Amino acid sequence: MSHPTLATRARLSEVRYEIRGELARRARELEAQGRELIKLNIGNPGAFGFRAPEHLQRAITGRIADTDPYTHQQGLPAAREAIAAFHRARGTPNATPERVFIGNGVSELIDLSLRALLNPGDEVLLPSPDYPLWSAATILNDGRPVYYACRPENGFLPDPDEIEALVTPRTRAIVLINPNNPTGAAYPRELLERVVDIAARHGLLLMSDEIYDSILYDGAPFHPLAPLAGDVPCLSFGGLSKVHRACGWRVGWAVLSGDPLASGELHHAMDLLGALRLCANVPGQFAIEAALHGEDTIAPLCAPGGRLHEARRAVVESVAASEHLDLVAPAGALYAFPSVVGAAGVGFDDHAFALELMETEDVLVVPGSSFNVPWRNHFRVTLLPEPDQLREVFARIGRVLQRRVEA
Ligand code: PLP
Repeated sequence: MSHPTLATRARLSEVRYEIRGELARRARELEAQGRELIKLNIGNPGAFGFRAPEHLQRAITGRIADTDPYTHQQGLPAAREAIAAFHRARGTPNATPERVFIGNGVSELIDLSLRALLNPGDEVLLPSPDYPLWSAATILNDGRPVYYACRPENGFLPDPDEIEALVTPRTRAIVLINPNNPTGAAYPRELLERVVDIAARHGLLLMSDEIYDSILYDGAPFHPLAPLAGDVPCLSFGGLSKVHRACGWRVGWAVLSGDPLASGELHHAMDLLGALRLCANVPGQFAIEAALHGEDTIAPLCAPGGRLHEARRAVVESVAASEHLDLVAPAGALYAFPSVVGAAGVGFDDHAFALELMETEDVLVVPGSSFNVPWRNHFRVTLLPEPDQLREVFARIGRVLQRRVEA
């Protein structure tokens, strides 16, 4: 007997996550046929030979027998104390262990915090381009993404006046991603102060995704938002996935700061939602103290001669040598977001380009429009491969673009 087709959540039709979407599926098909692809779609350090530092691994394996029970829904007390201390040392006001939420990656906490915050029709101010989970989680929690532009001609920095002009009575939060995925922009202090001022005057929550907080190049500064936010309620997101190269461990955190009275209900709602899913993955939580109190293992990778620094240099130099490409050099994070310019950029379709690049040159990139921008002439690559492999990638990209110009 046939069964009626099962309907799914209608708003899923508005959600896109192309980093692991159609192109990635096609890539798997090609691989199954024996093709060797260079896949630059996911910011997955472990897939490119990066390993979590050994002292983090030992922090888990040495205590594996202690990891059986559920923890408190907000996370292990010692791990929350380490996160709170890390934030206090940065100057985050009112960062106590009680206001720390540990989750299965920042991903879970983005969804959980928006679920705690939003009522149907509430608006969230998001960067465009964004990391598309922010848009997806806003939509799936019945909110409405409202985008503020971060344009390449302004170094991918937003204009605070434009942000403020988008505030309506339905606006609930301003989201910042700093350092930014996909653009690599790192936000100056004055810009952050102006965003804080907007949130203060309009009674909004600040949500600062700082998962790349110490992945910075050539002396670029990182300014955490919470210390600048003072009494303005702020959720700051961080984790082990990128800075500590342990994305498979699924460990992230969110720290609530600012006036405790103003955010008391939000705190309670997040605690309740955390309790409904019992707790985050426990073994990973045992690595948090080691990560935050131990030696800095990311700085050498980002310094001249370090693998990420040299990968970024390979991309910047490859783009500079190409008449078809332009780039705002990333100040931080693990990505570059070049644009196709000149004759090659006329009538450019980023999806068609990404498909052609994969089908003809075995390289997978993410089309720029996947990051919720109206422009069609960008694409994103990760800085995770070896520098020489990135130079090879750009040689192949150059061949595809040259063919377009000659066609
Ligand atoms: N936020 C940003 C800006 C990201 O780029 C990512 C992953 O790429 C995440 C959050 C999610 O990280 P995780 O869930 O691994 O902590």
